[in-house]
Amino acid sequence: MPAIADNLAAIQNRIRNAIARSKYQQKVHLVAVTKTQPVQAILEGIQAGVKIIGENRVQEAAGKFPLIGNQVQWHLIGHLQSNKVKKALSLFEMIHSVDSLELAREIDRQAGILGKCPSILLQVNVSGEAGKFGLSPQLALPVAEQISAFKQLKLCGLMTIPPFNADPEASRPHFRALSELKEQLTRTGILGLKYLSMGMSHDFEVAIEEGAHFVRIGSAIFSRKGNTC
Ligand SMILES: *Cc1c(COP(=O)(O)O)cnc(C)c1O
Repeated sequence: MPAIADNLAAIQNRIRNAIARSKYQQKVHLVAVTKTQPVQAILEGIQAGVKIIGENRVQEAAGKFPLIGNQVQWHLIGHLQSNKVKKALSLFEMIHSVDSLELAREIDRQAGILGKCPSILLQVNVSGEAGKFGLSPQLALPVAEQISAFKQLKLCGLMTIPPFNADPEASRPHFRALSELKEQLTRTGILGLKYLSMGMSHDFEVAIEEGAHFVRIGSAIFSRKGNTC
């Protein structure tokens, strides 16, 4: 089996096992993170069963889109600048990385012009790590309340990127904090928060145990480690 199909099968198996351990018993969607990957590798992933791809830069995605098209769903997982919103809306069905009210307002405005209703997630910097994109947990509620009034946007969850630590257990408190924040927002009256986007190659199983619905996995799928042919 080619390396990518092999990697993907192993990950899907690990996802199933993690769901079995999760008290949430949730459905988990795999976002194959294809940033920096050549189109050939992405097509190999799609051949092997990838349904959603995640890109972190609008320009890079725009270059690949004509060669891949809508046979997969495209999700934006990286920071979005206001001047790229229009382009982003033409490519992505879901934006995981909405990290300010101003950005949400601009997405709403452009979506209105284009007649689109994009799904968005709020990126929250639950760890408070300096230099990371994402709203502080304190701002999540007021920002979510204001976004709920925007006509075009479907605010459907929260996303986080914990500080990198090779030990996946180090991510657990951050994943749990995001899950608790989602519950808190829902209790306070923010409806429709269905999804948590959390977990990457090194910690996705812990994220699933803590309730993740989208895991964003790149290197574990696309690395050809151990295959030098
Ligand atoms: C690159 C990236 C990932 C995937 O990281 P891997 O460690 O390669 O799995 C996930 N989320 C975001 C936001 C990324 O930029």
